[in-house]
Amino acid sequence: MKQIALYGKGGIGKSTTAANLSAALAEEGLDILQIGCDPKHDSTRMLVHGTWIPTVLDLIRERGDADITVDDVVYRGFAGVRCVEAGGPEPGIGCAGRGIIATFQLLERLDALKGDVIVYDVLGDVVCGGFAMPMREGYAREIYLVTSGELMSIYAANNIARAIARLSRRARSRCSLGGVICNAKNIEGEAELVEEFARRINSRMIAYIPRSRIVQVAELQKRTVIEYAPESEQAGVYRDLARLVYGNDTTSIPTPMEMDEIESFALEFVQV
Ligand code: ADP
Ligand code: SF4
Ligand code: MG
Repeated sequence: MKQIALYGKGGIGKSTTAANLSAALAEEGLDILQIGCDPKHDSTRMLVHGTWIPTVLDLIRERGDADITVDDVVYRGFAGVRCVEAGGPEPGIGCAGRGIIATFQLLERLDALKGDVIVYDVLGDVVCGGFAMPMREGYAREIYLVTSGELMSIYAANNIARAIARLSRRARSRCSLGGVICNAKNIEGEAELVEEFARRINSRMIAYIPRSRIVQVAELQKRTVIEYAPESEQAGVYRDLARLVYGNDTTSIPTPMEMDEIESFALEFVQV
């Protein structure tokens, strides 16, 4: 079983990428479980045609976890992808990390953490104990950093790289870096910048996903691109990504950059 995680800054395109990746893998007949670990709880939404599936944390809050069954938390989406949303804390109180821990404990008890691939979709703005939990506790093994060429998302990716480097020294967590996914914002020199960033942190850019209008159109139709526009070029891009990730057996321990190093490095790619 492959246990991969997509980490990156909020709004960078983790869920879009994760859902299309899961859809493309499921199309090939693989058994996929996608777990949204973002309080936004919309990771799997396009796979279930826009429905808001109940979050594990909401269910636990409402009824306690004793009588929750697999069918209460795992929902079948496009091509049979099994979808779970961890959910988040009530604003102002509680910890998102605790939600993730509670979710994993419940899924383990229900024997639901299985399949050919588990795709974790995790918010990476803050790599606090909470959001690092899937890596720290040995659930997410192969981490993919989703970033554009924008400085803020490179910063976030670099922070996650730092967390991976630190956690890789602990016996319990068995995470390493699978690669960097560039989800383009169409800024100048973007592919080269992300490629070089990946190289400097001792990794590689495994895929370049162009910014495409079809992503928004599919989103308005509450579908993944794989389902809504299976013949489109963008669907082909997601299928290539799925093939590369599924077949990837090369991971690394990242070497994060220093903050001021990132700034001067980014300047090399932009005409000022
Ligand atoms: P995250 O999960 O990282 O918070 P989302 O996957 O929800 O980000 O994406 C944020 C927005 O960006 C969504 O409206 C999505 O449709 C859009 N988006 C993501 N990737 C692309 C892309 N390659 N081309 C065009 N729009 C995209
Ligand atoms: Fe928030 Fe993270 Fe602290 Fe939990 S561990 S309260 S998610 S910052
Ligand atoms: Mg998301």
